[in-house]
Amino acid sequence: MKITVDTDLCEVHGDCVVAAPDIFDIGEDDDVVQILNAEPGEEYRAAIVQATKMCPVAAIKIEG
Ligand code: SF4
Repeated sequence: MKITVDTDLCEVHGDCVVAAPDIFDIGEDDDVVQILNAEPGEEYRAAIVQATKMCPVAAIKIEG
């Protein structure tokens, strides 16, 4: 699967980092979320789906 974040939408709420900390991260100076692993294995799907549901602006997309 491939993960993308619409950086125009992302407001750095951090809900995705809570849901999937292996995939998303926000550094102190970041103004959009960072994707740590853009093509994660299936073992991360549940956490990433959770992250997409928690994102208040629906910025996260899963392909595949
Ligand atoms: S939950 Fe959504 S808005 Fe918040 S940091 Fe993640 S992608 Fe950005």
